[in-house]
Amino acid sequence: MRNAVKIAVAIFFIGLSAFARAAGDEAKNHAFEVIDRNAEATAIVGDSLFYFGELGMQEHESAKFLKQTLEGIGFKVEVGGAGMPTNVWAQWGSGKPKIVIVTEIDALPEGSQDPLSFPRKPLVPGAPGHMEGHNTHGAVAVAAAYALKQTMERYKLPGTIALSFGPAEEQLISRPFLVRAGYFKDADAAILVHIGDNMRTTYGLRNYAAISAKFTFHGKTAHGAVAPWEGRDALDAVELMSVGYDKLREHLRPTSRGHRTITMGGIQPNIIPDLAQIWWYVRDASGPAAKENFDKLVNIGKGAALMTGTRMEMEFVASAWPQLANKVMAEAIQKNIDVVGLPKWSDEEVKFARDFQTSLGLKPVGLNTQALKFGATQQSYSSNDSGDVTWNVPTGTLDFSAGIPGVTPHNWQAAVGKAYSIAHKGELAGAKVLAGSILDLLSTPELIERVKAQFREDTRGVQYVSLMPPEAVPPVDMNRDMMERVRPEMRKHYINKTPRFQ
Ligand SMILES: [Zn+2]
Repeated sequence: MRNAVKIAVAIFFIGLSAFARAAGDEAKNHAFEVIDRNAEATAIVGDSLFYFGELGMQEHESAKFLKQTLEGIGFKVEVGGAGMPTNVWAQWGSGKPKIVIVTEIDALPEGSQDPLSFPRKPLVPGAPGHMEGHNTHGAVAVAAAYALKQTMERYKLPGTIALSFGPAEEQLISRPFLVRAGYFKDADAAILVHIGDNMRTTYGLRNYAAISAKFTFHGKTAHGAVAPWEGRDALDAVELMSVGYDKLREHLRPTSRGHRTITMGGIQPNIIPDLAQIWWYVRDASGPAAKENFDKLVNIGKGAALMTGTRMEMEFVASAWPQLANKVMAEAIQKNIDVVGLPKWSDEEVKFARDFQTSLGLKPVGLNTQALKFGATQQSYSSNDSGDVTWNVPTGTLDFSAGIPGVTPHNWQAAVGKAYSIAHKGELAGAKVLAGSILDLLSTPELIERVKAQFREDTRGVQYVSLMPPEAVPPVDMNRDMMERVRPEMRKHYINKTPRFQ
């Protein structure tokens, strides 16, 4: 009898979980339908941001556009938080869990390019542009957010969806400030969204920690031949700082990196320079290790000032922890990649990709049709400021397929196709995976618990402290002159359409 009850209970629970799964599938299918029927509006979001083409900290048109668009779909939007006028944070829903979509929409200098031209053809010569495709991030995030809201309302799913568009990712700026301002405090999970040429999620440490700072030395001018003993040589201090760090390298971990450029070094040889500046990046495999290297660098700078009788001023520029990608999140995202797959490319799109690859002297491989194999990531030596988020909230990553294989970012060629149907289809696929993964998190409390357990394990023994000095403030004037100079000409290319989500 007792066994019969057990079996009945077991059948009941199996039935219940099957029911939950079926309901989950239904909700997901609904979200996918919402995304498909808003293909046009989604493309308008990505294309509008493409033609705004704004540099980091100057994403004013982009922020205004996102605010209007997100308010139009019922989100509450704050622009200007954490002391950054172009920071965009949007939120909808109530209660737990709270999931944050984390991304960026900034362009790169000199990146202006007609997205349909294979030869170099800037829309505005000398202007910035989206030669990494961050414009597509806005489309993915907004489309997923709308689909989530529609689906959560329909299926009465509790929870809060937030969107974070952090300024100036290309200069590693905003996320440490957002973390410091407490934006991620009550978040249960986050997903970092980025363009790629395939669909991909991964887990483990993705990249390096970095600290960037400028050291300016102030001395005293004198005639280099007549009275050099009256001078105090700021360039000497810069040179000694450089040599000093080279001496230190032998005693740093093999994982360390340190690179510098001399940004001011005097005017002409017969004037002892009273002003010189050296700009450093130091990196390492972990946040604390990078900080240790940096503290040694600061001491070397102080020593150089002492040796030369000059005065040192340090200007903090940026810092980042390595990105830590959560394995349980990655598994959940991968399941959605498996369901959604890659876009169905048309013959015309494949031809576009092949012809472009040929014109660049690349192998004409066309577009990817199969998702990358799932697995752990390798730690790269580059850095991304969103790393700071990942040590505060369990974070998954999603790269979506809106780029052309073989074309590397950070050059004008990567702007080609970013406001074209290849990008548009990639945006829809990215939005589906993102919405599907977040629906899984919202509807499966057990999944959130496992994500958090993984996070506790990954961060055991690690104390997150910001790598910024406490007095650091966001460099809000960054890129302003350049952007204000070219924006009037760029305005002529704005598409001036309003995305209507329905
Ligand atoms: Zn990027």
